[in-house]
Amino acid sequence: QTKTYLSKTVEELKPSGIRRFFDLAAGMEGVISLGVGEPDFVTSWSVREAAILSLEQGYTSYTANAGLLELREEIAAYMENSFGLEYSASNEMIVTVGASQALDIALRAVVDPGDEVIVIEPSFVSYIPLVNLAGGKGVAVQTKKENDFKVTPAELEEVITHRTKAIILCSPNNPTGTMLNEQDLEAIATVAKNHDLVIISDEIYAELSYDEKFVSFAAIEEMRERTILISGFSKGFAMTGWRLGFVCAPKELTEAMLKIHQYAMMCAPTMAQFAAIEALKHGNEDVNGMRKSYRRRRNYFVQSLNEIGLECHTPGGAFYAFPSIERTGLTSEQFAERLLVEEKVAVVPGNVFGQSGEGHIRCSYASSMEQLQESIKRMKRFLERQF
Ligand code: PLP
Repeated sequence: QTKTYLSKTVEELKPSGIRRFFDLAAGMEGVISLGVGEPDFVTSWSVREAAILSLEQGYTSYTANAGLLELREEIAAYMENSFGLEYSASNEMIVTVGASQALDIALRAVVDPGDEVIVIEPSFVSYIPLVNLAGGKGVAVQTKKENDFKVTPAELEEVITHRTKAIILCSPNNPTGTMLNEQDLEAIATVAKNHDLVIISDEIYAELSYDEKFVSFAAIEEMRERTILISGFSKGFAMTGWRLGFVCAPKELTEAMLKIHQYAMMCAPTMAQFAAIEALKHGNEDVNGMRKSYRRRRNYFVQSLNEIGLECHTPGGAFYAFPSIERTGLTSEQFAERLLVEEKVAVVPGNVFGQSGEGHIRCSYASSMEQLQESIKRMKRFLERQF
């Protein structure tokens, strides 16, 4: 038997199912990609200019571990004005390397070996691996399309044990686009209170809500004290490549996360932090413009999917449609593979987001209107030919 240097946790980690489809599509010409989970806008010029200016001025060293104080103050003002949340810039907030790092330090701060963390599926692909890497056990709970993929208190109760430590929420959701309203959040809050659970609330798509006003889980009565709020600049501000996120939580939790952050990351990229100050100061108009544009595309795309026979609930936020492909009799992997090979449209098979994602595909509509129209034409042809 040959020796392996790998940890068991890492050996057991599966590569993301999304990557496989990227790789498959990469070698083909003329592919319309609805696979990528990122904005199709370039970061606003004034934001890019702020980064350039910071470089010109020679700001190339580390910042404070928690991030530039000026940025934290802007985040505090933004959270209050936009979502009615009060977080102290000095000790209830950390600027992180994307929302991804915020999730990582949140989990590592609360999970002891063997602790269980509930992940609501279909879910963002990183949650369960991050729980496992933190030494915990990811426990999936399945939601139903008939319920717009919203979790019910009964479904949560079913998987809660004495080892359950936290629940990860994601609203607006990747991959379903579902946004939880105040009532939905209150129902989850009751469960969290009854079982004394931490809620890690991934609100990275908060800016992208189209029909109702976004409500943060931390804004629900008595929930702020048990909530670790994850957010950032990647999606709403079109800044995925800048790697800038943040986490807000009560002081004790923030201090715990900062201990991890100072050893693991030191600080988020300095020039990106300067850019983010500008994004918060003057970016509102840009964000509103992007939101309107996504809304227009969502309306067109979801209606068109339904018209060509791919039943799709109306997603309240983010930039994903999650139509059912059940009527074709294909698995989501078969569907995605054949659609790619035969019609050169790349989508993500729903099964990569968990068991209840099977029977669906995820399409990102953060693509030009022309591309969306062409993809609908191709999908219609694909369906008419075979089903
Ligand atoms: N959370 C969700 C739900 C996401 O969809 C993503 C990116 O796709 C992230 C977190 C990661 O965000 P970031 O790029 O800021 O690390």
